[in-house]
Amino acid sequence: MKHSNVAIFVPHNGCPHCCSFCNQVKITGQQKQPTADDVINAASVAMKSKRYNPQQSEIAFFGGSFTAIDRSYMVMLLSAAYKYVENGSFAGIRISTRPDYIDNEILEILKSYGVTAIELGAQSMCDDVLTANMRGHTARDVVNASKLIKKYGFSLGLQMMTGLYKSSIEKDIYTAEQICHLLPDTVRIYPTIIMADTVLADYYKNGDYNTYSLEETVELCAKLLQMFNKHSIRVIRLGLHSTEDISKGMVAGPWHPSLGELCAARVFRNSIDDYIKANALPTGCYTVAVNSRDISKVLGQKHSNIEYFAQKGYNLTVKQGSAMPGEFYFSDLADKQNTCFNKS
Ligand code: SF4
Repeated sequence: MKHSNVAIFVPHNGCPHCCSFCNQVKITGQQKQPTADDVINAASVAMKSKRYNPQQSEIAFFGGSFTAIDRSYMVMLLSAAYKYVENGSFAGIRISTRPDYIDNEILEILKSYGVTAIELGAQSMCDDVLTANMRGHTARDVVNASKLIKKYGFSLGLQMMTGLYKSSIEKDIYTAEQICHLLPDTVRIYPTIIMADTVLADYYKNGDYNTYSLEETVELCAKLLQMFNKHSIRVIRLGLHSTEDISKGMVAGPWHPSLGELCAARVFRNSIDDYIKANALPTGCYTVAVNSRDISKVLGQKHSNIEYFAQKGYNLTVKQGSAMPGEFYFSDLADKQNTCFNKS
């Protein structure tokens, strides 16, 4: 069953930072500070949902700076949510925050109010990229905060962005490598979208900056997915959610409503390509057998993967088989000895 999480956006009004990409108003469509009543109302609505399952549902405070907001206000929101954790209505509370607003005192508070998962906006593990995008923290802050969060027993989530100002494909891959070393439980990947009224929008208009194309983003994020898969790190989000505010406020960027699906399909395409090359397979007709849940990923959107291989002389038939998710069996028509291959 899917989770029926309660998601409460907590804006950081009066935030002293000026991250190059930040335009929370445009992305979320609101800037109102939620109250304890808002938490209670949101929890009550979620508990009436058909997907509600107390063991799997969490109350999430997102916005990226939860532990940087006014302390008494933060505690007031946590207290409202904690009642539901205490009485078993929700499994826990998750928050997202900056790596430089994590210390022992903050973690003690979060622990005492039933917080179970902490997500850090790492964005990049290259200090020059962090500085260029005015993040106000270093890669070392991400490492220290991550270690402390794990020491306290919280579930750790790390968020990274691709295509930031002064970043590159190599630097984004380096960031993912550093994140893998920290072994978070979850990762979110956000390709940079240039929103109106941001520093990045000014750079873009002046011709000083552009983020990656959709094709570059799909190719890069497919690589990142494989890296995180190899380390058994769950990628719980790839790309910004579809909202009206995105379409109204986006200046440029590789936004796509199904970016995750495009990247998952690219992972299979690249893996099959590698398999064909590694085995020096002649052109011809082949069968790819996969787990039922992977069929659409192997086909690609509008059969783009099938088309891609057909143009190279490989006519693939995709069928459901006994492969585990993420694996495929590849065979030609004469070969009854199917070969199992794990895409990660
Ligand atoms: S993204 Fe940066 S500028 Fe925006 S609220 Fe968070 S810390 Fe402040």
